[in-house]
Amino acid sequence: MRFCRYDEGSHGVVIGDKVHDITAVVDKVLAGKKQPRWGDLFYWNLDAIRGAVGDAKQYPAKPLSSVTLLSPVERPSKLIAAPTNYHAHIAEMAARRPDRVPSKDISKAGLFLKANSAMTGAGEGVHLRHLDRLNEHELEFMIVIGKQGSQIPAAKALEYAAGYCLSLDMTVRGDEERSFRKSIDSYAVIGPWLVTKDEVPNPDDVPFKLFCNGQLRHNAHTNDLIYSCSKLIELASAFYTLHPGDVIFTGAPAGVGPVNPGDTLTAECAAIGPMEVKIHAYKNPFN
Ligand code: MN
Repeated sequence: MRFCRYDEGSHGVVIGDKVHDITAVVDKVLAGKKQPRWGDLFYWNLDAIRGAVGDAKQYPAKPLSSVTLLSPVERPSKLIAAPTNYHAHIAEMAARRPDRVPSKDISKAGLFLKANSAMTGAGEGVHLRHLDRLNEHELEFMIVIGKQGSQIPAAKALEYAAGYCLSLDMTVRGDEERSFRKSIDSYAVIGPWLVTKDEVPNPDDVPFKLFCNGQLRHNAHTNDLIYSCSKLIELASAFYTLHPGDVIFTGAPAGVGPVNPGDTLTAECAAIGPMEVKIHAYKNPFN
């Protein structure tokens, strides 16, 4: 099943090019439920919601093209990200900066966190800051956690996934800490929707591509991940308790490239669905 959030926070199920409005069902399932200290209430109750929804075709539908897609996750406790997880991307970054070759071993380099306030949906777009600096896209396959756990062994890791989606780990290049450069508002695009794990039997066997204004940038396959999805869950949960709704950016494949206001990024991934994201210049709404 493909669960989305859209417009002012409506919940939908995507079938083909339509979104079926399940907001009333979700509200009914979640009514009176106490917000746990950490995690996303929707994902804490995903199985119950799915059961209550039943056949999504029975709910009123409208064209996907007529809605603004938000992040399918609203309140994760954290956004976890792998810094370098494809050999070909490590090589392209090492070629640019021989003085700063990325670690090939994330068991030593570790993972990093992006601020939750950087989250945005595909339909909301990216709002670039620091236009005098190099801003780049990193399209990454994403794991969404569906079950709370800690110290999870790789062999059981996928039991803790709710499903998968795509993500853009937008980045200002430079020498500051990763979490600083990658946590600008809207620099964590999550979308276009959650695909439940039953529809993606092997997350380490997913091809995906990114085009910028029609030009191919990433041409990637998750079977090239250095740390598989299972191993990433194992590593992350060795340091953090994972809560429903938490997400893991699995790392950038080769082909990262510059973006500028006016650009359109288009992701192709048969397992998840297409995702289009527009690039804008940031305008401060407070002055
Ligand atoms: Mn990245």
